[in-house]
Amino acid sequence: MQKEHLWQKYYPEQVPLQLDIPDVSLYYFLEQAAAKYPTNQAIIFMEREISYGSLKEQVDRLTRALDSLGVKKGDRVAVMLPNCPQTVITYYALIRLGAVGVMTNPVYVERELSHQLMDSGAETIIFLDQLRPKVENAIPGSAVKRLISTSIQAYLGLPVNLPDAAEKAQPQQIGNDPGAPVSFSFEELLLNNPPAPPPVELDLDEDLALLQYTGGTTGQAKGAMLTHRNLVANVTQVRSWLAHCREGQETVMCVLPFYHVYAMTTCMNLAVILSSAMIVEPRLEIDGLLKDIEKYRPTLFQGAPALFNAVTASARGKKYDISSIVACVSGSAPLPVEVQQQFEAMTGGKLVEGYGLTEASPVTHCNPIYGVRVNGSIGLPLPNTLVKIVDLEDGTRELPVGEIGELCVKGPQVMKGYWNLPLETAAVLRDGWLYTGDIARMDENGFTYIVDRKKDMVITCGFNVYPREVEEVLYMHPKVKEAAVIGVPDHNRGEILKAFIVLKEGQEATKEEIIKFCRRQLAKYKVPKKVEFRADLPKSMVGKILRRVLAEEEKAKSAKK
Ligand code: AMP
Repeated sequence: MQKEHLWQKYYPEQVPLQLDIPDVSLYYFLEQAAAKYPTNQAIIFMEREISYGSLKEQVDRLTRALDSLGVKKGDRVAVMLPNCPQTVITYYALIRLGAVGVMTNPVYVERELSHQLMDSGAETIIFLDQLRPKVENAIPGSAVKRLISTSIQAYLGLPVNLPDAAEKAQPQQIGNDPGAPVSFSFEELLLNNPPAPPPVELDLDEDLALLQYTGGTTGQAKGAMLTHRNLVANVTQVRSWLAHCREGQETVMCVLPFYHVYAMTTCMNLAVILSSAMIVEPRLEIDGLLKDIEKYRPTLFQGAPALFNAVTASARGKKYDISSIVACVSGSAPLPVEVQQQFEAMTGGKLVEGYGLTEASPVTHCNPIYGVRVNGSIGLPLPNTLVKIVDLEDGTRELPVGEIGELCVKGPQVMKGYWNLPLETAAVLRDGWLYTGDIARMDENGFTYIVDRKKDMVITCGFNVYPREVEEVLYMHPKVKEAAVIGVPDHNRGEILKAFIVLKEGQEATKEEIIKFCRRQLAKYKVPKKVEFRADLPKSMVGKILRRVLAEEEKAKSAKK
């Protein structure tokens, strides 16, 4: 049951509770943008501008090329690219062809890439040429038979208007082994194929658009099966939330890595559905990012708390003008209020916390951009999204308002399941409800608060402690810049809490001072017994602090003793 009565009061006025999700694939929005705004900028990348007309043409050429090479609907195609135009072209070509994108993190090591290739059964990989040694070492034992490589330089060297083409690119064999994978150049495929994609029938609810590997922060990577409907639904939901946005007139900063579905939906697909420009940043480098913000004046900027924090800190010192920014959604991790306030003060725009997970394409919640928002909350569910909080024992009992339990969501953005893992799928998808593994409560107005992740709960002396709560207290300490809390094994208590702290620049603190501060704010059993000061904390590519890495380091240390 959707507790609409709770949140209707605070639901953004312009946003409907129920949306019609169009019966199309994402490619339709690209077609629309190219038809209505052919000369509008689609991509700005390293001083190069690509119009919507040209983007669609390149997508159509690549689609045709892939079809000619034998890539068919349902085939998995791995993609190992940084943020660059080729990623956008590849992504939309795969959507158009009905092939399934397996987006991989370019910083993965061979072992991680190899796992994704084997697990997905990808027969084709499209990658940045610099990554070739890693790719070639990862493919033995996998089904990969086509290597398509691209380079930034070669791509930027292509003529702005591609010449007419009727011929296909000739494959090159690597080495003499006839069974070895065949290599192609991305740029040649674009040059040598006409923009004439083949007809493809899609079942939007059944056919997969992405196998999006997740579990990186919790365990072995699993492929979340996201359908065409899932992706269209989520970008439509996000777009409806940003009701103020004007078609053809926004500029979206794309610095989040495109291999993560958060960036695909809220940066790439959002820009396309808005027929608006994306500023594609090849790497996360704060100075370059600030210069581009000043130069290209983005209006939308999605990110993670650490990114907003870094931007605010750097922009202040260097006096960059970042006032073009109108709205930003922060996801992936809790957004500290100070970061939100400072960012809003500097930009004059809005920064609101949202929430999602790969399995939901990913966004399920967001604070309203205008009107009521609640600090420390992930906000309200997006349109068409149902929410319930269930007991932590077996998840069968829906809990009343205010009680802490597992957050479950249901909606058109929720995945079909995990690839080839029926048991794991059954554990997280029950009756259409996605069990998020996040522990949360909902207040009487329908705002949801993430308390912790299920697996991160620490049990000390039989008491359950949620590290998030302890971290929140640590963040209140005026000298603390970043904090992470984990449970470490303890002979007597089962586990005890250990805090890792990064102090603000120029600050000094003692362990006793921190513990004393916590004692004032927390029940005794929640106070960390150990405190370690660090220069920085391990983080994922989207800026999430990785408690798991800290826990592994602790384990390795105690094994050495
Ligand atoms: P991923 O699948 O990599 O997108 O990670 C999803 C997980 O990130 C969620 O299950 C949450 O644990 C966490 N997460 C996302 N947004 C937030 C948020 N606003 N606050 C706290 N945790 C979040």
